[in-house]
Amino acid sequence: MTIYTDRTRFTRGFECRWKRLLGFHAFGTGITANRVAVPLALGRHVHTVQEEVTKILIPTPKWSDTVQLTVRKVIQDTCDKLTKEFEEELATQPTPRSDEDRRQMDLLPALTHGYARAVLPWVLENYEIVASELEISYPVPNTDVIWMARPDLVLRTRVEPGSTDESEQPLTIVDYKTASYWNAETGPSQWASSIQMMANAYVTGWTLQRKVDTYYMHMLVKGNKRYPNHLTHAYFRAASPPLFEDKWTTARTAKMSKVRVADYRTIQDWIWNGLKSEEVGEKFPVVGPFTVHQYTVEAFFRGVEQEEMYWHNNLKDLDWTQWHQLSFQNELDRRFPRTFACHDFTGSRCQFYDLCHKQPEWGNPMQSERYKIREPHHPQEENEDA
Ligand code: SF4
Repeated sequence: MTIYTDRTRFTRGFECRWKRLLGFHAFGTGITANRVAVPLALGRHVHTVQEEVTKILIPTPKWSDTVQLTVRKVIQDTCDKLTKEFEEELATQPTPRSDEDRRQMDLLPALTHGYARAVLPWVLENYEIVASELEISYPVPNTDVIWMARPDLVLRTRVEPGSTDESEQPLTIVDYKTASYWNAETGPSQWASSIQMMANAYVTGWTLQRKVDTYYMHMLVKGNKRYPNHLTHAYFRAASPPLFEDKWTTARTAKMSKVRVADYRTIQDWIWNGLKSEEVGEKFPVVGPFTVHQYTVEAFFRGVEQEEMYWHNNLKDLDWTQWHQLSFQNELDRRFPRTFACHDFTGSRCQFYDLCHKQPEWGNPMQSERYKIREPHHPQEENEDA
């Protein structure tokens, strides 16, 4: 018997048992809403662009004009491809595309070019990139559980060639995190005891046979619908030759209007040539390094077996073809108690609301076009025992 798990399903089960049940196990690999969740798609696409960029930076060059040009081309080509797919995906949706969808799509080149301008030179100056999106399968000691993880970046402190043995240099890991808002005073504390990051660092060390004692969060700040940030929206006044050329600012100024940058120039040009470096940098805080506490990680992994065995034992004899039967629903209620915390603080509903609250079509979710089967996040899941 092998039980695969990861941080997302593990923590989802503590938010509400049914969030994990429906999202990761129902009807095979779990189900997900058919509707495109644009912010989630943005986060996924940002990771794809970052992976394409960091892959070409192994072995790691120092930052230079040539590296910058190569990086910009990879970002733009990947963004163009993903934006096209994004557009096609949104075109299948019943609701018309909104200004907010457009803002989210503008954020893809804005966040990835912005990160390359603000953070990548610092990364290459100080570190070598050891791996990007490293797939890890960690057998939790003395259990049948495999913990799957994928840190976004593994970095090694850079040394000048020949000065010392580079393989002895400390390793650290990085995760990218998109967020609507960032508070520099209170924000770091939410990551200082992140078990997700500590466990990822620990299992990265296990995989590479080198202890990883620290981790970083690289934040990418998006702004929100009401307050779009200056990566995508800025103040503009059209040229009036021969008196003045186009004027752009990030702060409200007389006779200038707030516009969507992409309506007037490419986002790439705006990020690299229009904004000052500090105006870009403020949207990409590098948070850390945070220390991995060995005790915390070991305590965490000691609890993983019981939790995963609970899921394994309660799932193993369920026949999902019986979903619509009252007796099956009652059995799910007994085995998987729910929190019914179905709305978040913004008022958004959990994607499974229709099923848990027995809205029309709850009895046949796979035929309702509201849901589809979840695609596994990790290739290891394909080896999973039923
Ligand atoms: S709708 Fe409510 S009860 Fe159902 S999974 Fe979501 S939070 Fe849990």
